[in-house]
Amino acid sequence: MFSKERLLKDIGKCQPFSGIDPEELAEKLAALVEIGKTDKGGVTRFPYTDEEKKAKHLFKNWMEEVGLQVREDAVGNIFGRLEGEEPDLPVVLTGSHLDSVPNGGAFDGPLGCLSSLFAIKSIIDNGQSIKRSIELVVFVDEEGSRFKNGIFGSRVMMGEVEVSELTDFQDENGEVLYDTMKNSGYDPDKLDSAHRPSNDIYAFLEVHIEQGKKLETEQKNIGVVSGIAGPAIILFTFIGQTDHAGNTPMESRKDTVAAAAEFILEVEKAPRKFSKTAVATVGKMHVYPNGTNVIAGKTEIVLDARDVDEQAREEMLVYLKETAEKIAKSRQLTVEIQDGLKISPVIIPDKIKTIISNAAEVSRLTTMSLPSGAAHDAMTLGKYVPSGMIFVPSLNGKSHSPEEWTSLPDCVNGVQVLKESLTVLANE
Ligand SMILES: [Zn+2]
Repeated sequence: MFSKERLLKDIGKCQPFSGIDPEELAEKLAALVEIGKTDKGGVTRFPYTDEEKKAKHLFKNWMEEVGLQVREDAVGNIFGRLEGEEPDLPVVLTGSHLDSVPNGGAFDGPLGCLSSLFAIKSIIDNGQSIKRSIELVVFVDEEGSRFKNGIFGSRVMMGEVEVSELTDFQDENGEVLYDTMKNSGYDPDKLDSAHRPSNDIYAFLEVHIEQGKKLETEQKNIGVVSGIAGPAIILFTFIGQTDHAGNTPMESRKDTVAAAAEFILEVEKAPRKFSKTAVATVGKMHVYPNGTNVIAGKTEIVLDARDVDEQAREEMLVYLKETAEKIAKSRQLTVEIQDGLKISPVIIPDKIKTIISNAAEVSRLTTMSLPSGAAHDAMTLGKYVPSGMIFVPSLNGKSHSPEEWTSLPDCVNGVQVLKESLTVLANE
């Protein structure tokens, strides 16, 4: 579980990078953890809540203390700008998010925001000149935990969201996103004012915890993200016959749970047939009527399939749809297949990967290339502007839980690589 003391235990192992104060980084991380802290040891900070407002307020103060010009847009994305020598040039953007999943960890999001803050502070303190302005951004509602509407702030910024969509999303209490934004003092009707043309932005960089075990296993300091896997969601509904579990002979059943089970095992085997990076998961399932002594006449399962290789992902989806049909047919059931959200994977440009790798090398840090299986705001930005991600190790690969942990030396390494990379991009 997170504590400032646990972070500070490793302070002696932090590399002495110029302009980066590990103790202050630990203190600021700890201060953010206090906001929305749960009794289970995690953090719950949903968008447009008092907790999120407090965290953003604190972060705005920190940006001002560093000397950045701070502003907030119509939906609650916040920006802190360090003016470059040529303010009219497209800016280098860097940042992450401060919202969390329910009872999430201390590092997912906040570490990215703080890395950007500390990298910019170090550029200022070292008196380095920059040609392009650097802007720190804290995106609102990255996780989608409250309105099931993730990477929201970045999609608004890139002009992907219409005002009319804001009434489509409700939280668990039936509060509509549009109204919630208004009640929080934002102006959803001015959504367009939050849009930034892509030629305003030269590049985007985000530091994030890996949320996997690759860096730890390979004992590398820095992950140079090669691409962000796009998720595809598909709803499969098996339809059979609801019957009595006692009186219906085995040979005359149309059991949709058994069909779903057979299909789920095929889902588990499928990714390896198509690519090394593909993954497929069934994490959500509804059984109807869901009774102990009833053969289920209807079972819905939700498939989440991802890959950085879009073609491989598409081939896997076709295969899984055919497999579901075959299983249904062999059991004399039917299956309805409904496509849900589908996001294209983002490939990180070679140039950005090289800048990050070189930044690590000059800082004497080891690197490896790896894809991101999870979605991030960089996935939205990456569609329009050269975008990159710098991963730091996650202890035991844990994330979205109170066990999420990244050591202080690893946090400091991320700041350093970001700082070097930003400096290069800002002077291009
Ligand atoms: Zn995140």
